[in-house]
Amino acid sequence: MSHPNDPKLRSFIDVAPTSDFPIQNLPYGVFSSKDGLASRVGVAIGDYVLDLWELEQGSRLDVGPLGVFSQPSLNPFMALGPKVWSKTRARISELLRSDHPELRDNRELRARALVPTADVKLHMPFAVAGYTDFYSSKEHATNVGVMFRGKDNALQPNWLHMPIGYNGRASTVVVTGTKVRRPRGQLKPPAAELPSFGPCKRLDFELEMGVVVGQASAMGEMLTEKQAEEMIFGFVILNDWSARDIQQWEYVPLGPFQAKAFATSISPWVVTREALEPFRTQGPAQDPTPLAYLKQAQPNNYDLVLEVGLRAGAMNDARTVCSTNFKYMYWSSVQQLVHHASSGCAMNVGDLLGSGTISGPEKHQRGSLLEISWNGTEPVELADGVKRTFLEDGDSLVMRGWCQGDGYRVGFGEVEGTVDAAE
Ligand code: CA
Repeated sequence: MSHPNDPKLRSFIDVAPTSDFPIQNLPYGVFSSKDGLASRVGVAIGDYVLDLWELEQGSRLDVGPLGVFSQPSLNPFMALGPKVWSKTRARISELLRSDHPELRDNRELRARALVPTADVKLHMPFAVAGYTDFYSSKEHATNVGVMFRGKDNALQPNWLHMPIGYNGRASTVVVTGTKVRRPRGQLKPPAAELPSFGPCKRLDFELEMGVVVGQASAMGEMLTEKQAEEMIFGFVILNDWSARDIQQWEYVPLGPFQAKAFATSISPWVVTREALEPFRTQGPAQDPTPLAYLKQAQPNNYDLVLEVGLRAGAMNDARTVCSTNFKYMYWSSVQQLVHHASSGCAMNVGDLLGSGTISGPEKHQRGSLLEISWNGTEPVELADGVKRTFLEDGDSLVMRGWCQGDGYRVGFGEVEGTVDAAE
């Protein structure tokens, strides 16, 4: 049987070459449909969701404990480990192949197990155990450093030696389509003598990828590169909404707090690490050489195209404000996970690691409005007479991402969020 990543595989379901969900992808999500049944686990294929609970009940998927796919979260499935993930993906691939009759020729089963995506509601795909946000794009860290500390002190002395991060809030990680209320907080513009409390005036997005950790590690234990990699279940696109003015006043000396705690949006489908394997690529050269525990024996970056669209309330369509690539990240997701556990910090099933804002070397590759508008000094024109430095109420932000194969793409769907007024 050919591997589920084989570019030649075709499904009996028609999938357009520009669809995010060909048979080579098979991302997992949680959905409910018009049938009124509880939220459960499904896989995206073309314009359909394959209901895994339906297949599990019919004994067509053997994952061990019965009922993991009847849950409103991927956590019980993820807890079963990488061998089960791989075996299950291979079986789902087989069931969807054009040359495999089991589902293809069973009209009744097809009607029950394949739900048009247009008829489903997508939910948070997993229960977020903990959320950690990194700061691992050298271009992003340099841009921000130049803005606030000048060219000569752009990178802090620790930055080239470890993936910098902070512990964020799991409680406000939300799925695409969730409206985001403009946060309130303490503001102290440089000219003001004292702080005041009110709605954020410099609301921003950050384009990131999120790593979904599918296996736990023990408190006190370090991880090798291989162990860390095998704990990664998959990836989502992540918008780390940021209140720049709140952040500027609060971040000394412990880092961001309320400026990042009000919302983090993710895309609804978790694309497995295995599906991204054909797109593995070498990241930027690391100089100085990382300490031994952070050294990588293999490339751990991915060639993954990313785009951000911004639509002001008055516009019909979003305008692309950033086109970049995940491959630019200086510290890889594997290095982030190794570093996260290096003190003896235990990792849990369902932990989410934000990559940090993904900016590239070019101007059009900047992954936040802070950089795009250069701290509010260079407004971006979205349409005739519509300019932005930061986000206004009613603005909608859409992030998309995909790996381009030969005649197909392994994509993530989108993460969308619209800004609601603070009051
Ligand atoms: Ca961030």
